[in-house]
Amino acid sequence: MNTFLPTSIVGSLPKPSWLAEPETLWSPWKLEGTALREGKQDALRVAVQEQTRRGIEIISDGEQTRQHFVTTFIEHLSGVDFEHRKTVRIRDRYDASVPTVVGSVTREHPVFVNDALFLRQATDRPIKWTLPGPMTMVDTLYDDHYKSREKLAWEFATILNQEARELQDAGVDIIQFDEPSFNVFFDEVKDWGVAALERATEGLRVETAVHICYGYGIKANTDWKASLGSQWRQYEQSFPLLQRSSLDIVSLECQHSHVPMDLIEILRGKKVMLGAIDVANEVVETPEEVADTLRKALAFVDADKLIPSTNCGMAPLPRDVALKKLSALSAGTAILREELAAQQLSVVS
Ligand code: ZN
Repeated sequence: MNTFLPTSIVGSLPKPSWLAEPETLWSPWKLEGTALREGKQDALRVAVQEQTRRGIEIISDGEQTRQHFVTTFIEHLSGVDFEHRKTVRIRDRYDASVPTVVGSVTREHPVFVNDALFLRQATDRPIKWTLPGPMTMVDTLYDDHYKSREKLAWEFATILNQEARELQDAGVDIIQFDEPSFNVFFDEVKDWGVAALERATEGLRVETAVHICYGYGIKANTDWKASLGSQWRQYEQSFPLLQRSSLDIVSLECQHSHVPMDLIEILRGKKVMLGAIDVANEVVETPEEVADTLRKALAFVDADKLIPSTNCGMAPLPRDVALKKLSALSAGTAILREELAAQQLSVVS
């Protein structure tokens, strides 16, 4: 395995068509009971095999056992009523019918720990597990109990910390929190967002990551992006706070995005999971295109801190496209590894 420029994906991969409806978010399962449990495990196994044979070095579960990156975690908590739904505006962008917080939120059982144990025994490579971040969880609910986004985020941070510690014990090497909300609610990020995230990672020995992006390639997100102008400077708000935080890795969107690359400089000293694969476009990147993005980023991040990755999750993409994009990520990274090795040789000789 290459430990220099280790490749990784942000989180989700498309599910097989026998398990869930393809190219659909919140797609209902096609199986039930024991068949569903076995089907999820088989899909997870395939996700590991595909990542491995296509040269991905830090392996994820492809989120094959969950319907959605936020709601599946919340479904396992008590204090949240999934029958009484309300329509709220998510990330200030689109309306969705969401569950209601009706009492104290608690985690009575581990949520993903068995799945993580399954992933751990499916590969010898380092594994990464994703959890939703506290602010993004708050933003995907209607709160009829705490009546305070900050208070609810703090409760979620405590619950996430319990889950993260058990994921660590299950052998997970990197725990990643998905916080797309950090690109929207800048005052809250400053006031309590980063603090809640640090609370979620408290006491962990494994590496911790935060993923901040411009979302899946769905219409609400592409319309929003079209309104952001020629330079997307949202990261400028959260990066200085994250640079000073206890988080080890920051995952960001870069390929085909209007994020000025020099914003990465703000994170200097942290590891950067750089999105070199566009998940909002079905055209598969060429290896040269991937290498070019990574090469440009190296002006702002040390090579030993760069983790080539995808812009976001790939759940809504056609399956063959997503898998080809994994190969493109590896091939592009290989080009850059060779270039850097050649430069090293010429320095030595
Ligand atoms: Zn994302």
